[in-house]
Amino acid sequence: VFILAIESSCDDTAAAVLHNDKVLANVVANQLIHNQYGGVVPELASRAHQQNIVPVVDAALRKANIQKEQLSAIAFTQGPGLMGSLLVGGSFSKSMSAALEIPLIAVNHMHAHVLAHFIDEDGFDKPSFPFLALTISGGHTQIIRVDSFFDMTIIGETTDDAVGEAFDKSAKILGLPYPGGPLIDKYAKLGNPKAFAFTKPKVAGLDFSFSGLKTAILYFIQKQKLQNPDFITENLNDICASIQHTIIEILMDKIKLAVKETGIKQVAIGGGVSANSGIRAALKATEARYGWKTFIPKFEYTTDNAAMIGIVGYQKFLNQHFETAAVVSKARIQF
Ligand code: ATP
Ligand code: FE
Repeated sequence: VFILAIESSCDDTAAAVLHNDKVLANVVANQLIHNQYGGVVPELASRAHQQNIVPVVDAALRKANIQKEQLSAIAFTQGPGLMGSLLVGGSFSKSMSAALEIPLIAVNHMHAHVLAHFIDEDGFDKPSFPFLALTISGGHTQIIRVDSFFDMTIIGETTDDAVGEAFDKSAKILGLPYPGGPLIDKYAKLGNPKAFAFTKPKVAGLDFSFSGLKTAILYFIQKQKLQNPDFITENLNDICASIQHTIIEILMDKIKLAVKETGIKQVAIGGGVSANSGIRAALKATEARYGWKTFIPKFEYTTDNAAMIGIVGYQKFLNQHFETAAVVSKARIQF
């Protein structure tokens, strides 16, 4: 089975070609245009997708060394995401599946972040069912109980900001460019995680809250700057390490509770924030400490990519779960 997968939910235009569960090509065109605005501008994203989609798909097919005629199906991101962005990938996929007379498969972007672990990669184990998935990205923070490829239940999620936003908004307060998450990670490596203490939110059960942390950081920085205008530059590494440490504790507290409540000791992380080195280390440490088995995807499958759309597409193909051209893109989508 050869699947062409297309992802265009936010600001990255991505295409991948899979042979069964193996990735032959995984191409991403980043839209750098948004950086100067400090966030994704939906209208610009949509237009950039229109420019990128044909060259990105061409590049993926060329890299995979596959002719269009060999494709078995086309999988695309149906949602959630920005409507103007989703529509570009959706209409392109519909036209191409119609022209090639091959099945069309709609994929939930959040399912794809979870199922990215089932891509066949040397040196990476696949979880077995049931497992817990912690999806941490720019738009989501979810703990999901995964009982099979298509049976997933959200058991905890953020009540306000996503963890990626917590990273990016904290970085913005520090005057770092967007997206600030990777920069906080970088500076945190050089700092003392216990240098400054930020209070953790008190949220019952498995849900998260991150908006309070941002406010706490803002007030802390404003107060320090009154005494020392150079506070940020002089303490950047320690501030970043302390912010990151707090975020990791919030995540780990909840995932530990989820393991306790479900009795499931397999934990897989996904989404862009799972690229964070501190989170990876904290998760890995639970293997020796608590006997968990943890799964961290290959870096290129953590942030938005089409290979993860392709692996869901492959599973849906095996189940003959196809759509007609009447299928609609959805900014919000039932999990
Ligand atoms: P969603 O999947 O919810 O629609 P998204 O696709 O925009 O959101 P991703 O691309 O999965 O999100 O992740 C982007 C986020 O990951 C950004 O907030 C970015 O700052 C964060 N991020 C990336 N690398 C790191 C890192 N090393 N440390 C912390 N955060 C990071
Ligand atoms: Fe994503």
